[in-house]
Amino acid sequence: MIVVKDRTFEKFICYEDILERIAILAGNIDEDYKDRKPLFIAVLNGSFMFAADLLKEISLNCEISFIKVASYEEMESTGNVRQLIGLNENIFKRDVIIIEDIIDTGRTMLKILEEFKSLGANSIEVVTLFSKPGAVIIQEHLKYIGFELPEAFVLGYGLDYDGQGRNLKDLYKLKD
Ligand code: 5GP
Repeated sequence: MIVVKDRTFEKFICYEDILERIAILAGNIDEDYKDRKPLFIAVLNGSFMFAADLLKEISLNCEISFIKVASYEEMESTGNVRQLIGLNENIFKRDVIIIEDIIDTGRTMLKILEEFKSLGANSIEVVTLFSKPGAVIIQEHLKYIGFELPEAFVLGYGLDYDGQGRNLKDLYKLKD
């Protein structure tokens, strides 16, 4: 068990199991994109560890880039707007694979998908390491899922609690 700020977390999924699952996801992507050169776009900050471990297992000719979505809280003054920052690549006619750490309600990904669709990508798929039950709203594009989680707050392997805990190698779950 570990304590981060005022909360206690227990180990949930260990790094070795995460890596094993990532190798399988990468194998599936390699197979599905055999004759294409996909553009991976990782959603920061949470996906930085997953993106690094996933890309090391991909054998395709590919590119990777990074975007950020300004969160709800940060945008409070302007209402419930979520803004996509940092997309410098031209995604017109590209085969895009979005890399996300976790999908909870699916609203963040819905916003990203909306924007990407308007930019004329040839195809858009999502690979997420973790998904919660709410992710069904983007099912159509959610082709690759690492682990389906229950409704619980998780931490580690890139995911934070109030800015901390991203460096933890394993995934932890909030102890209730
Ligand atoms: P959604 O828009 O799908 O509800 O939320 C997606 C974002 O919320 C994720 O990219 C992540 O930043 C954050 N999030 C959702 N669930 C969790 C969780 O259990 N732990 C952490 N650390 N972040 C989460």
